[in-house]
Amino acid sequence: MNVDKIMNELEKKNPGEVEYLQAVREVLESIEDVVNENPQIEAAGIIDRLIEPDRVLMFKVPWVDDKGQVHVNRGFRIQFNNAIGPYKGGLRFHPSVNLSILKFLGFEQIFKNSLTTLPMGGGKGGSDFDAKGKSDAEIMRFCQSFMLELWKIIGPETDVPAGDIGVGGKEIGFMYGMYKKLTHTHVGVLTGKGLNWGGSLVRPEATGFGCVYFAQEMLKTKGTDFKGKTVAVSGFGNVAWGAALKVTELGGKVVTISGPDGYIYDADGISGEKIDYMLELRASNQDIVKPYSYEFPNSKFVQGRRPWEVKCDIALPCATQNELGKEDALNLINNGCMAVAEGANMPSTPEAVESFLEHKILFAPGKASNAGGVATSGLEMSQNSMKLAWGKEEVDRRLHEIMKNIHEACVKHGKDSTGFVNYVKGANVSGFLKVAQAMMDQGII
Ligand code: NDP
Repeated sequence: MNVDKIMNELEKKNPGEVEYLQAVREVLESIEDVVNENPQIEAAGIIDRLIEPDRVLMFKVPWVDDKGQVHVNRGFRIQFNNAIGPYKGGLRFHPSVNLSILKFLGFEQIFKNSLTTLPMGGGKGGSDFDAKGKSDAEIMRFCQSFMLELWKIIGPETDVPAGDIGVGGKEIGFMYGMYKKLTHTHVGVLTGKGLNWGGSLVRPEATGFGCVYFAQEMLKTKGTDFKGKTVAVSGFGNVAWGAALKVTELGGKVVTISGPDGYIYDADGISGEKIDYMLELRASNQDIVKPYSYEFPNSKFVQGRRPWEVKCDIALPCATQNELGKEDALNLINNGCMAVAEGANMPSTPEAVESFLEHKILFAPGKASNAGGVATSGLEMSQNSMKLAWGKEEVDRRLHEIMKNIHEACVKHGKDSTGFVNYVKGANVSGFLKVAQAMMDQGII
């Protein structure tokens, strides 16, 4: 396999799709050896078939605001690969959403879902809709209009979307209501549903919890744990709050959270009532980061900067893609950070990842360390199929077990002769092999 040749051709076909090209290159570089050692993979055209989505749906989403003004957004669903199960992946509502970002996320999702060991293929979708400052009625009208197109290509055995940036329980509820009305069915077509109508306990906090469980396994390989450790977290969304909660429970101290315009540093630790306060603000679509510094005056708001300049033992980037560059990586390393586990998807740039690997610190790529969210979505699908609901302990136990297994798979495929574990390679190789085998079993389709 010639990675540069494949990438040149992919770039010609997908000009300007920076994030997508970045995600594909990372995977191809990791699996190059394995592909070259197994000529049947190339003979079956697996790589060419894997980097082209099965299909892409792009549609118009018209909606009316509270003043009666008409708006038009763009909606997408990328069905990337369903070799091992129905397409599965979140919906992102954010003004930055475009085809490149959703293709990168959909592509990553193939390997992440494979790592969970559950039968789920890869997909992603969303819209450039900005929920900030919108009323609940406006969000509802938007979600309903979005579902008026999306319902045609999704289904509990076909494609099961979930939440992502800008899509939490509220948006899932509005979309589910419209799907139900259109199809006259009540089925597990979305995950992240409300507990009273098919949702799973632990799903909201699962990505953050899973990320911390994964980091815990990495720390174990160095004979240590979260107790007494200082932890820098970015973002304060679905993923970040779960991570902050679990770190605190395990005896660590979270000292930062962030938003697009800066970060909060709170040396006293961000836990308990402080997390509750932020969840209240989130529920009412309000900005969190600045109000936090007014509410808790011992903390400080650092405008226009990222939390990676703060001295910490562990870093958990949980906001968005490419939010941690080379300079940030070097800051973390020079300040003695021993482990980075990505809660977000591709938050570290390729140069940052290179620095972590060069300095041999523990580094977990998102497709391994944030797989707890989709894994728990898979558990929600299982509960929906069986028409029963597991208790909190049961779901959490399964999630924990899955994260331990993903860690083990990464070690198996990522450990080199010196004992160093390259988790990027481990995750990519392990996730890829299962999908490639399924594709070979199923013929050229
Ligand atoms: P949310 O919308 O709930 O939270 C995103 C958080 O990041 C918000 O606090 C947001 O602040 C902040 N943020 C957004 N853009 C930036 C930026 N440019 N710089 C700094 N902070 C920013 O999303 P999620 O928590 O669901 O998702 C976060 C990441 O985790 C994404 O990469 C997502 O793909 C990934 N992920 C999510 C899963 C899930 O289960 N939800 C599963 C696996 C991965 P503000 O609200 O002020 O914009």
